[in-house]
Amino acid sequence: MRLDLGNPAHVKLCLLVQGVRFTPDAVAGVGRRHTERALAYNNSDQPLQGLDTVPGELLLPEGVVCGVNYRPDSPWCVQRQAEGWHLTLDQRPVCEVVLPERPAYYECRLSDGSPASRYVSQYSVHAVAVFLHRQCHMWAIRAPCQFCSVEATRGVNRAVHDAPHGALLTEALVAAVASEPRLRALEWSGGALADFDQGFNEAVDAIDAARAALPRPLSHHLNIMPPQDLSLLARLASVEEPTFALEVWSPRLFEQVCPGKHRLYGRAAYLRAFDAGVALFGAGRMSCNFVAGLEPVDSLIEGCWAMAERGVVPTVAVFHPDKGTPYARKPPPAVDDLLRLAGELRALHRRFGYRPYLVGCRRSSLDSEIYEGRFDA
Ligand code: SF4
Repeated sequence: MRLDLGNPAHVKLCLLVQGVRFTPDAVAGVGRRHTERALAYNNSDQPLQGLDTVPGELLLPEGVVCGVNYRPDSPWCVQRQAEGWHLTLDQRPVCEVVLPERPAYYECRLSDGSPASRYVSQYSVHAVAVFLHRQCHMWAIRAPCQFCSVEATRGVNRAVHDAPHGALLTEALVAAVASEPRLRALEWSGGALADFDQGFNEAVDAIDAARAALPRPLSHHLNIMPPQDLSLLARLASVEEPTFALEVWSPRLFEQVCPGKHRLYGRAAYLRAFDAGVALFGAGRMSCNFVAGLEPVDSLIEGCWAMAERGVVPTVAVFHPDKGTPYARKPPPAVDDLLRLAGELRALHRRFGYRPYLVGCRRSSLDSEIYEGRFDA
């Protein structure tokens, strides 16, 4: 497959790998009219140069949502034009882009007086994100996943609650869903507690509470550590898109890249949890998240097919080196590797009839665009 910069999905691939910068006038309205980068994680990429803030996402043509990996030396640049913005590559125009509008519910005050944005974050146009435990136990024991930016983000973004739970979280979600008709999914991320079963139960409890309170039904995606007690997996019956993140397929590299997950849970236990989930819910319901760029692409492709054969949908985020993480200096994956991976995932979706989670909402992954056929030759 050859790169085609007339295809917004290919432009997204390049932006995820090579990052993007902004002229100062392009971000003049960010934080007021347009949404500032404010997620509970992934706020720790390169230090801003000459800018106060940047958006967390760009909207490319044809509804393609792309996460912003800010790099001041990127050949890609967002510039302001008379109406709107355009994206350039080495000063040559490539396409128009849009900065997402700041959602009205960010200013909504909860019953304790805090803004709803302290509890939830807008995640693309169609989803709201909740990060349940920003103080992940893997960081506490000094064995974090080596690419993980959650602790570094905590250091720079104190406006988001470290552990949003309970009635105020539900209030914030109700405010978001009531005021934003385009929302169709909630994206729940767990972090890790010392007790995986406790973390698992807390997450499913929070989802159940939100589901009961929301003014209309939404789809729930949950990315969490699997429980030690596999009988708890039955609780995922109320979660449309459950995900466990193995991150890396190679057993040797899993141990290196995810030392905490290796030590406290183990790759074999992950595979047992996936098998138990498939036995309960059938093939195509559970998904396994990987991160492209942490292992050779052949190994990642092998892992995607192996999980698919087990009945699990493989999903792939694109690695970005973030400040404050052990992998801050590791290069991102190669464009050609991602193009090859896209072809394999498309073949896999077709062979098994799988649909990746949060289609249309993924900012740091190409899963949606691959599933929609945007990488077909
Ligand atoms: S489990 Fe790993 S990736 Fe997830 S928050 Fe903890 S250190 Fe980060």
